[in-house]
Amino acid sequence: MYKVSVPVMLTSIERSDRNELLRQLEGLDAERVFLALAPYTTDEKKIEERLELLKKETAFFKSRGYEVGCWTWTFMFSGDHPFTGMTFSDGRTDRQEVCPSDPAFVDFACDYVSRLAGTGLDLIMFDDDFRYGFLDGDAACLCKNHRAYMEKLLGEPLPADLKSYLFAGGANPVRSAWIKSKGHYFREFAKRIREAVDRVAPQVRVGLCSCMSVWDQDGVSTDELARILAGGTKPFMRLIGAPYWASRRSSLASISST
Ligand SMILES: [Zn+2]
Repeated sequence: MYKVSVPVMLTSIERSDRNELLRQLEGLDAERVFLALAPYTTDEKKIEERLELLKKETAFFKSRGYEVGCWTWTFMFSGDHPFTGMTFSDGRTDRQEVCPSDPAFVDFACDYVSRLAGTGLDLIMFDDDFRYGFLDGDAACLCKNHRAYMEKLLGEPLPADLKSYLFAGGANPVRSAWIKSKGHYFREFAKRIREAVDRVAPQVRVGLCSCMSVWDQDGVSTDELARILAGGTKPFMRLIGAPYWASRRSSLASISST
């Protein structure tokens, strides 16, 4: 079962033709609007402005009979931040995508998402960066927290030629520990987010966009994450893919292999 759900950039509503937008939504038989947000920021003034706008537009679309959700980034930041970035097998760190193993980031995200939940909306959906290594072709995460968790599971230091254990040959305890560490931090993040939303607005549904890697190497399925995020509400997920994939002549096969 699905509902016709239309994403709209939160900040573009005011400067576009609001009546034309309503006409288009009606033409699509839309039942739900997802107000899409910019990435996380640590700028409190910007956060306050975003929340005010979200509150205002949520009330507007609800008054027109739409169910209203927001579509927000999971781990992505714009601008500077003090948190642990996702780290790749060659040691590079992504400053834009933060690792959920960083407890300070999880506290920050819980506070932010619970404030989104307090604006009166019905749903919160995490974008398709709910995965490891969203902005990079390499597999993440091997940050210090992930490495420590793997060593705890293994009961010994990680081998120097870690890459060969992770990406070559068959199953082995090091690779299993890596997969387990990834699933662990995703589950914990989802659990903490649900708890934070429950404290403010337990009726708000929280879900996520599915990604290829979450069905494979991320250590936990979208299905399980959707159920953790949902808590006592009805779970939901958005399957990955969009009309622009087809317009750019993309196929799932070509995207999976890039
Ligand atoms: Zn990490």
